[in-house]
Amino acid sequence: MNLNVFFPENLMIQSIENNEHIILICLKSESKFNHCPLCGMKSHQVHSTYLRKPLDASILNKPVQLRIQAKKFFCLNPNCKRQIFTERFTGFLNAYRRLTIRLEEVFLQLSLSMSAEALSRFLFKLGYKRSGDALLDLLRRIDSTEKDIKNQSLTHIGVDDFSFRRGVDFGTVICDLETHRPVEILASRSTQAFKEWLEKHPSVELVTRDRATTYTKAIHLTNPNIIQVADKWHFLKNLLTVVKETISSRFPKGWFIMPESSITKKTDPATDITITNVNSISSHESLSEKEQAKWALILEIQKVYQQVGSIRQTARQLKLSRTTVAKYIQLSEPPKQIRKPRVNQFVPYLNQITQWCQEGKTARWIHEQLIHQGFKGGASSTRRKVQEIKANLPVKTSEKATEKISKKSSKLLKATKFQLTSFIWRKPTSLTQPELNLLNELFQAHADLSELYTAIQVFRDLVTMGQVFKLSQWLERYATHEIKLLREFCLRMKRDEQSISNALVYPYTNAICEGNVNRIKMIKRQMYGRASFELLRIKVLYS
Ligand SMILES: [Zn+2]
Repeated sequence: MNLNVFFPENLMIQSIENNEHIILICLKSESKFNHCPLCGMKSHQVHSTYLRKPLDASILNKPVQLRIQAKKFFCLNPNCKRQIFTERFTGFLNAYRRLTIRLEEVFLQLSLSMSAEALSRFLFKLGYKRSGDALLDLLRRIDSTEKDIKNQSLTHIGVDDFSFRRGVDFGTVICDLETHRPVEILASRSTQAFKEWLEKHPSVELVTRDRATTYTKAIHLTNPNIIQVADKWHFLKNLLTVVKETISSRFPKGWFIMPESSITKKTDPATDITITNVNSISSHESLSEKEQAKWALILEIQKVYQQVGSIRQTARQLKLSRTTVAKYIQLSEPPKQIRKPRVNQFVPYLNQITQWCQEGKTARWIHEQLIHQGFKGGASSTRRKVQEIKANLPVKTSEKATEKISKKSSKLLKATKFQLTSFIWRKPTSLTQPELNLLNELFQAHADLSELYTAIQVFRDLVTMGQVFKLSQWLERYATHEIKLLREFCLRMKRDEQSISNALVYPYTNAICEGNVNRIKMIKRQMYGRASFELLRIKVLYS
């Protein structure tokens, strides 16, 4: 086989030496002419020959060293500054380089996927001596050659931030939504940085982004006609957080009990725990719903602490902080809540309400009567007041309560907060009958949760089916809802309504950017956190 086929036509193999550590291939240039790299004029006039000794790709794991007898030519253009130029081997070996292009490619691909120092050690074993610095130079060089070419026609991009050091320094990653590739990373996540980038890329028509206002501002400042698409998953996630936190604020951690509800009796230890806790709670009936929940949590912490005997273990098991555990295990009664004094709108009706409570009227019925009498408060505040009053009614009710608890074994309904959140979030068609029953029971006691449920279901359908026309109506309706978190969610959404509508219409999300943010994290780890931004950028863009 003629090995010459692996080299440019004008290079002829003169000899091949197989030495102990290296294969030496001597080549001679036979080119009759060459073009001046400066003015481009063709020249036949040879000035001299000189030797180039680049490394080439290995053969059977042995490094290859070339010895090329190359030519120098005179430039014949009298107006050219270059009088003598060296022969070029386009596509095979660049001027002034110590590696052939094909070997550079291999090193380049390797240095994109490992650290320069590791690669240097690896190559040493293969017989190539390359310092980490030399390999880094290689990386820097691709950037200057490849840059810009692909960014000129970008139209649809995604933008997101990522952190250099967790929570301290942030950068920005910009992705092409068509190719799913990152096209740039910026050293900051400031409005200014993104604005400057946008100005250099006037072809951009659409940007997906999370709800960070810095990017929005940059878009407004550069080109307000750019279509902004908020990230669907972000706002769905925010809404899920509303549900989670609303549930969290009402029920104890890990499990909850709903009074006046029914479920078949179970005799597993978990149920027993629940019953003990019911007793403990009912002995503190003067507490509000929230306080009861907290007290139940405290009892749970104390119980776990008694079992495992260490604060650290308890904290880990219950996913609480150690300070919380340490504080709570010392309490022998419910902590007193310090509340802001509030104007009590019930004052004029107190006697009346107390009487109704004694007569056993329901909160809803009482609320209706109050409204008739000109009461201005909401149904949930009436409900809380009624609960409070009922809890404070002497003997009769608490007898009733204990009686209820003794009958109770069959009247306990139990779900973790996580389950509850999931029941409210999921489509009703995906729930089992007992789960639906549980929700119904829940809603009878908590009317506002029932409304939250409706809100969630409508919103999710509206997002998945792209019903833009329903969005502003939904926002309008719940922006004044009694659940504060829901209200706040609506207000935040309203500030960004246009891009949220766009999210329902356009098939883009910011998932591509988020994928790339994860990739950046991986690359950072591989670089041991000591590489410069410049290198990180090259690795992100070209690997
Ligand atoms: Zn010239």
